[in-house]
Parts: sequence; structure tokens; C-alpha cells
Amino acid sequence: MEHNLVLYNTLTRKKEKFVPIHPNMVGMYVCGPTVYSDVHLGNCRTFVSFDLIFRYLVHLGYKVRYVRNITDAGHLEGDNDEGDDKFAKKAKLEQLEPMEIVQKYTIGFHDVLRLFNTIPPSIEPTATGHISEQIEMVQEIIKNGFAYEVNGTVYFDVEKYVKEYNYTILTNRNLEDLLNNTRELGGQDEKRGRLDFALWIKAKPEHIMRWPSPWGVGFPGWHIECSAMSRKYLGDQFDIHGGGMDLAATHHTNEIAQSEACNHTSPAKYWMHTNMLTVNGTRMSKSAGNGFLPGELFTGNHPLLNRGYSPMAVRFFMLQAHYRSTLDFSNDALDAADKGYKRLMSAIGLLDKIVTSKTSNFGNLEEIKKRSYAAMDDDFNSPVLIAELFEVVRIINSIYDGKLNISESDLQALKQYMQDFVFDVLGLKDDQIGEGDNMEDLMQIIINLRNDAKKNKDFVTSDRIREQLTAAGIQLKDSKDGTLWNKI
Ligand code: AMP
Ligand code: ZN
Repeated sequence: MEHNLVLYNTLTRKKEKFVPIHPNMVGMYVCGPTVYSDVHLGNCRTFVSFDLIFRYLVHLGYKVRYVRNITDAGHLEGDNDEGDDKFAKKAKLEQLEPMEIVQKYTIGFHDVLRLFNTIPPSIEPTATGHISEQIEMVQEIIKNGFAYEVNGTVYFDVEKYVKEYNYTILTNRNLEDLLNNTRELGGQDEKRGRLDFALWIKAKPEHIMRWPSPWGVGFPGWHIECSAMSRKYLGDQFDIHGGGMDLAATHHTNEIAQSEACNHTSPAKYWMHTNMLTVNGTRMSKSAGNGFLPGELFTGNHPLLNRGYSPMAVRFFMLQAHYRSTLDFSNDALDAADKGYKRLMSAIGLLDKIVTSKTSNFGNLEEIKKRSYAAMDDDFNSPVLIAELFEVVRIINSIYDGKLNISESDLQALKQYMQDFVFDVLGLKDDQIGEGDNMEDLMQIIINLRNDAKKNKDFVTSDRIREQLTAAGIQLKDSKDGTLWNKI
């Protein structure tokens, strides 16, 4: 089938035909999580969106190298090289080593993404594992004249850069406005220009995560890790760079500047940005305190939630919105998604029970397929695809009720269509209790959450988890070997 994949490129602010740099191959880099705390549902939305994109590219037959990093060093609290190190602060709070924090939340991140049925990236590099590549890149930027060192810290020289390049190319902001909206430098500042940002930061004596460098002991700035790791695994120029929309103005703007200053080329041909998950119109974020943890959503244990939802119902909820639209969280929207997801799965279940006829009269599957591909080819429009799938659900139900006929060969084709679009492209799976194969994983997460609550003497929560599971037909049994579960 002829495909004409079109995607929205933030860089050009329009939809463009997707033409990979190397035929049939795609290099895609997506900014991963900063593993200093649990990922919230908003973060998950971004990773589920790129999972959809990855899955569709693979489905179309591209050989995709998908790189998604783990930020495990160098991320300060402020966007402008100020504030505490996020890992060190959390480590102090939890009385752990910073690398224990990193390990704990990396595992948590993987657990959650597995529940959402996302495919792991091809390479998942960490910032701490690529210190020498980052140092090398900083050296090259200095050599090219776009960075300078002051007292053990290296800054990117934006003022110099803007003389040759367009610093605000990604977001199309006016440079004057940006300057006027940025804090003026004070007497203590080491930076030469107010837009300059750190590539390498001198470690204060108390800073635990530190590495030797040509400029003394320090640690990398946040932006340089993505430039260094994308270059290492995807080359100076690759096809797609992605992340949440909130990253475009600073992190991605600085990534482009670093790569241009080092390699003399813009790193990615297409920049893709996912929109935010909001709660009552406000962006879900750790700092706003409105960040649901996926575990809370699965158990329903949160004041804003009426009940718990399965990971696949939540994934379906996310896919019902286009990745570039905001998605507002509400109990009603989740209830509707849960219902829709179950309707879809039941219809697929019926496919094995359908009695076939000699001929078909249910419509034209080729046309349905064509429209489904057209939806996904149009900037990965999953909501339009889902509308098409519901049309198919109606057809399946009518065939099952004996109102329409389907031949054996058409039934096989219909099964293949559902396999392709529901399972392979949308990445859904049947997680109805007792049928899905992720039940054990899901139960382990819930049991761990309950154990954490018990450990913290939060017996209200631990009892509530047990009661809600009982209501859902699952019994917990505490034994000396841990907590066991069975269906009642
Ligand atoms: P962080 O761990 O904060 O660096 O974020 C990891 C990813 O999640 C980034 O790509 C962010 O842009 C994205 N993100 C953060 N908050 C939201 C949200 N409310 N909705 C969607 N994506 C988000
Ligand atoms: Zn990044």
C-alpha cells in the first residue's frame, strides 16, 4: 500500500511529508525522564505518545533506532543553572545515596511503562554513563569559539552564537523579547550574556555526583547530555527529535545551539512535541502538586478519583486525544474511555465466536483499512483511527447478532486488521481480569504499594487497597513469604 506519512514539524510550524535521511531507516531521539522521583501520569502521556509514533513507524516497515535517555545527573531545579541538584536534594530527603535514588526511580519508571505496554527503546543511555562524550563535546564547542570557561564552569556563549545562527529557530520567538524577559546579570554572575547557559558546572565541595574534567571537578549541564548521546547513537543529523512541549523553549533550543556550535549542523530534521496532560486546565506537574502517580490511578487511591482504572483503559484514554492536543483529566473522561476500551475488547473477543457465511455483506474492509492508514498517516491521528475502529465494532456486533454476514476469508482479514491497528499500532492489549498476561506485574505493583503504605503506618490506605481488590474479585493473603493473591 502507498503511504504518505505527514507529520507536524515544530521547526517549520507545519505538517511535512516524512522523508527519512536514509531510506527505510529512522533515527529517533526522545528526551527521557529525570529519575529523581516517581513519574506522574503527564510524563507517561508523553512516553505513550512516542510509543504510538514508534509503533506506527515500525508497522510501516521502517527500521527504527529509538533512543530515549535517562537523566540521572546534572539536572538542577531551576532552568537557568540555579538551584539545588535534584538528585542530591532527594537523596538527602530520603537518606539515600544519589545513585540509590536513580536506581529506585529508574526501576519504577520501567515498571510503569511496562504496565502501559510501551515498547522499550532500542538504546536507553544514561547521562552518568556518557560523561566523557559530554566533556568531549564541550571541548569542541570551546574550540569552535562558542563557549568559555570561568572558574571551573563552562558557559555556552549565546551572544556569539546569535551572530551566526538563529537561536530561537525552534520556537520562533523574538530574540529581543526573550532578552527582555530574562533576568539581568548581577555583579556575582559569571556569565557574559544573560542567555548564556552552563555546559559544565563546577562542583561545590558538598556536591556528591562529580567527575574530573579539563576544567576541574564538576558535573555536566542538563542540555549537553542529550546532544552528546544523540550524536553518539544517531549521528550528527538524525530524523526525529521528540519530547514534551514544555521542553522546546529552553532544553531543545539549547540542544540545537550546542549541536550547531559543535557539528555545524542542526541535529534533527523533524522536531515533534507532545502536548500536556492537564487537570482542570492546569498542566500536571510535580511542582504544581497535581501529579497523579500511575499507581494511584490503578488503585483509585487519590482524593480526586472516584475509582481505579486499568492501565489499558488509561492508555486508551490517552490515545483518544491527538498527541498535539491537550488532554484534560477527569473521572467522567476516564469512565468513558474505560467503557470504550471494554467495548473494543469484547468485540475482538467475539471474532472467535462468529459463524461465517459463504459471502460477506458487511461493507468494504479495504476502504476501512485505507481510512485507518489515512488517519495515522495524517500526523499519527489516533482519535480518528479509534472512530474508525468503533465503526468496525458496530459491524462485528451486527455480524455476531446475525444481522450481517462475513465469509471465512474476510473474517481472517478482519482479525488481521484488528491485530494490526488495535494491538500493534495502538499498543493495546486485553487486560480484562484473568485474561491479560500482565496481571501478575500489575498485582505486584499494587501489592508493593500496599506494603509501602503499611511500612509508613498508613493503614487507611493499605486497608482500602485490600477492600477494593476484594470488591474487584481479588483476595490478598499475607504470608511469611510475602503477599499472595488469588481470584475469589
Ligand atoms: P521530566 O522527568 O520532568 O524531565 O519529564 C519527562 C517528560 O515528560 C518530558 O518530555 C516532559 O515534557 C514530559 N511532561 C512533563 N509534564 C507533562 C504533562 N503534564 N503532560 C505531558 N507530558 C509531560
Ligand atoms: Zn533532552
